[in-house]
Amino acid sequence: MYDCIVIGGGPAGLAATIYFARQKLKLLVITKEVGGQTLLSSDVENYLGFHLIDGLHLVENFKAHLKDYEKDFELKEGERVTSVEKMKGGFSVVTDKGTYETKTILVATGEKHRELGVPGEKEFYGRGVTYCATCDAPLFKDKEVIVVGGGNSAMESSLFLEKYAAKIVILTINDALKGDGVLMKKVQASEKISVLANAKTTKVLGDAFVTGMEYETKEGEKKVMKAQGVFIEIGLVPVSDFIDIVKKSKQGEIEVNIKNETSVPGIWAAGDVTTVTEKQIAVAVGEGSKASLGIIKHLQQRDE
Ligand SMILES: Cc1cc2nc3c(=O)[nH]c(=O)nc-3n(C[C@H](O)[C@H](O)[C@H](O)COP(=O)(O)OP(=O)(O)OC[C@H]3O[C@@H](n4cnc5c(N)ncnc54)[C@H](O)[C@@H]3O)c2cc1C
Repeated sequence: MYDCIVIGGGPAGLAATIYFARQKLKLLVITKEVGGQTLLSSDVENYLGFHLIDGLHLVENFKAHLKDYEKDFELKEGERVTSVEKMKGGFSVVTDKGTYETKTILVATGEKHRELGVPGEKEFYGRGVTYCATCDAPLFKDKEVIVVGGGNSAMESSLFLEKYAAKIVILTINDALKGDGVLMKKVQASEKISVLANAKTTKVLGDAFVTGMEYETKEGEKKVMKAQGVFIEIGLVPVSDFIDIVKKSKQGEIEVNIKNETSVPGIWAAGDVTTVTEKQIAVAVGEGSKASLGIIKHLQQRDE
């Protein structure tokens, strides 16, 4: 039986792993990939100690730090947790590849992109539909693209796409864009970016690849806009569907107290998947560290 299983290898889970590994606990880290959302961030300018670093290099630094402790924990990368059950003396964690038993759990599964839920979205995913401008923008060099969304994510993605795409149209269901004033000014000043307001996306169109988007105007009229790429930027949702024994908010965030304890004794949660108010790398690192210290104390008291 493990002392602790960390689910998720983003900043929250990795920060906790460093604390655990130094205590020589029997630790397992299960994650789909090491790095989490930081891998998607082009420029990080607000993480202490780094003036400006791209997400990929920041993750390389995380990995190099973990390598110092590689003998002190087990890592199952490329594995997805599908459920968590209570059992005598702890929990069983089920993945797409196996089942593991543990005394405690730290859930640090972060957030993922929200889907539009329109026909064609799933069908053309990877064939013109994408949720990540920082990953896929170079594939759309000199192409015409649509960005669906009306907030900071949509504006940031459009400004990133500006370096590559020939033309970018932001489709928003609202009357106007909402968000950071600085981003708004940059979008307005761009010669490549335009905004179509009051447009409700209804279908992604295509054959082998995306050819455009069908949308509905405020008056209920259906129209088609041609494009070779569709970037969906309508926010993020917590990744918590695999665990139903803990209390969650309406949005699916795992409820935690100031010590990162969930409603189930023995299960802690940290980072973007929780009700923590700010979703940032520094916050996730702090929350993961705090949770691990609580778990270490709990295990020491349990074994006394
Ligand atoms: C495009 C973009 C730019 C950003 N820029 C910045 C920035 O400049 N500065 C900043 O501070 N923050 C930025 N953020 C936010 C920051 O990346 C997040 O707040 C931070 O990564 C949250 O860390 P986390 O560990 O809680 O979760 P995540 O980073 O989401 O990591 C969660 C991990 O859990 C894994 N996982 C999920 N489900 C399962 C499962 N069922 N089984 C196993 N593993 C699972 C995932 O694969 C992932 O590795 C940005 C986010 C995005 C999307």
